Amino acid sequence: MITRAFDRSAMSWSYEMHLQPMLSASDIEGLPFGSVFGSVPGHTVSKRHAHQDGEMFIVLAGRAVVLLGDEERELGPGQVCYLSPFGFHEIRNDHDEPFDIVSVYWEHIPSAVAVLDKAPPRDQLADRTLVFCPPPTPNGGLHLGHLAGPYVRADMLVRALRSMGRDARYVTGTDDHQSYVAAAARLRGTSPVDVATAEGDAIVATLRAAGVGVDRLTRPAGDPEHAGRIRKLLDLVAASPAVTEEERETAYCPSCELSLHQAFARGACAHCEAASDGEICEACGRPNEARELTGVQCRICGTAAVTRPERALWLDLNAYADELREYLRVSSTSPDLQILVERLLDEGLPPYRLARTSAWGVDLGEGRALDAWADLALTFLDAARSESEDGGPARIALFLGYDNSFYYAVLLPVLAFAAGLGEHLPAAFVTNQFLHLGDEKFSTSRGHAVWADDALAAAGPDAVRLALLRDAPEGRVTRITEERAGRLTEDPLYLAAHAWLDGFAALGDGAVPGTGAWTDAHREFYRYLNLTTRQLDGLVLPEAFSARGYVDLLESFVRRCAEFRATEEVARRVPSLAEEARTSLALEYLAAKVFAALAWPVTPGLAERAWEWLGLPGTPVREADWSFLPSGTRCTAPAPVSALTPAASGRS
Ligand SMILES: [Zn+2]
Ligand SMILES: [Zn+2]
Repeated sequence: MITRAFDRSAMSWSYEMHLQPMLSASDIEGLPFGSVFGSVPGHTVSKRHAHQDGEMFIVLAGRAVVLLGDEERELGPGQVCYLSPFGFHEIRNDHDEPFDIVSVYWEHIPSAVAVLDKAPPRDQLADRTLVFCPPPTPNGGLHLGHLAGPYVRADMLVRALRSMGRDARYVTGTDDHQSYVAAAARLRGTSPVDVATAEGDAIVATLRAAGVGVDRLTRPAGDPEHAGRIRKLLDLVAASPAVTEEERETAYCPSCELSLHQAFARGACAHCEAASDGEICEACGRPNEARELTGVQCRICGTAAVTRPERALWLDLNAYADELREYLRVSSTSPDLQILVERLLDEGLPPYRLARTSAWGVDLGEGRALDAWADLALTFLDAARSESEDGGPARIALFLGYDNSFYYAVLLPVLAFAAGLGEHLPAAFVTNQFLHLGDEKFSTSRGHAVWADDALAAAGPDAVRLALLRDAPEGRVTRITEERAGRLTEDPLYLAAHAWLDGFAALGDGAVPGTGAWTDAHREFYRYLNLTTRQLDGLVLPEAFSARGYVDLLESFVRRCAEFRATEEVARRVPSLAEEARTSLALEYLAAKVFAALAWPVTPGLAERAWEWLGLPGTPVREADWSFLPSGTRCTAPAPVSALTPAASGRS
């Protein structure tokens, strides 16, 4: 006889609760389940998680709420609950007493797979999604590195959502009030508003040329009501007890009579020693105060900084540390963002200065302006609130570069909590690292860049988008060489898709037949069209987003379609297989329709031309289960490819 006893001293901390192994297959050979004694301490929540195992809780003592997906139920002693495979669950114990359970879990793969089959990826998409991208700073044009980060990937998501019948809105703008705009104006001898307007217009035109369709564009410098709206939100923030007015030493340039912050300060990060501007180190992602930089000097004149006391509003970020942890716990974040924020929280968040001594930005009187990042965060919340007032509640997905992590994953949430606008925060963060040019970062100041406008003019938006999505810096730094940047239309998917679509011209008179008899190969090809669609659907869930994976699969899809043609063309010439030949041809045209819908998020120009060539109305629609083109459809000659020039194509 094997016995075990509940023993709190033998428990370890795992899944954010106490656990003690009971009996499992490691104790009894062939035991088809495992079991643990578990205890969730009072006023804590166990880790939210999911697994392929089925699981059962048998409650011994205490009361707590068990959450499974959207369901929640309070359980007490003697109750038993079953948790299905892959369901996210957690235990929330709001009582003083610990919540003690026995958990029994087992793996039954057929049930786990059945759960997956019953919940295809697109069922997990919200009806309405707001896709936010950090507004670029209008102090210069966009290079390929900029586009490769959030902007094209976010557009890919918006298109994919729309093609599946979901409401999706793309929100970005220009970050006009950045100190970088004021610094550029000072160096160019012009005014910040002129820089913000001219450079901002150019940025908006570049995004449009890349087929990035923006539905809401926030441009503070050209919006006479911006300052009023943002000051109202700031009043809400300032009412928080975590905001105080304090006098602190600040870096200062006596020769320029400039308070040195952000773009105006230059030095080395005291933490990682990388060259850094004021307030944030791009290398390690940590915030700082400009005066803390090693060897801090004035960006304008190069003079070594001195300090002087300045009065300003300061926000104690630490006052919201618990709320921030809880918010990030239930949000979908990426590993790099999680590492940074957990480290910052463990180190203790520094206070954040909400007002700068500056004439540029939302004027707060007495020579002060709202800090540009606080301005940006409040602009985000203002836009998100207004979008949900106009169009109803929505799930927010935010695409962002790693260098923006602190501002979007710490400062933005804390300002939202302080202003009581927590409901308008992102539910999912989709981060990127950076695309490098050759072995180095893109650098505008050193001229080490390929400008987006030049690449778009040379190769067209489809080829540029495809290259940037294929090598998207997701979770890692990626590289593009200048040589490759000059030959973007030689991308293998770009070439293969054109060649395959071009081949339709040789298939016959462009009349789509109805299906006839099916071979096993036909049935499997049809199954493949539906399964590939589901696989690609899974790669555009904000929580599992992968542009790289998507392009890979799309390329393999085109290869499979070309293979299908190569083998079927021969079979279509066998006189006794006339009925099978009709199915074969109908499947080819169906594959073209599927391609148009699946490729639309990546190469919208090509996809729209193929869709139109097939006689289909509007923009491509991505069916969950593919229906054939009506028999008798005539695909207008010439075949799509003769019309395939790399001309600019915007979203209609
Ligand atoms: Zn100076
Ligand atoms: Zn650093």
